Amino acid sequence: MKKQGCIICGKPLNNGIMIYGRGICRCCEGRMINVNEETDFYIYYKECIKKAIVQAVIRGEEISCQNYRF
Ligand SMILES: [Zn+2]
Repeated sequence: MKKQGCIICGKPLNNGIMIYGRGICRCCEGRMINVNEETDFYIYYKECIKKAIVQAVIRGEEISCQNYRF
């Protein structure tokens, strides 16, 4: 498997959690768990996850469209 970077901080991912094939490092995971919902970091974090998941979903749709066409 290809080495990925954390979707939040962009650092190479050695361990952490995966969401829709996108990695989040331990450090950012820990920050999210402890973060207050009204902080800028939480908003930024949510945006990162949303973008990563939307990209994964769009890519999946493209693949199924191609399969359908051929
Ligand atoms: Zn990170």
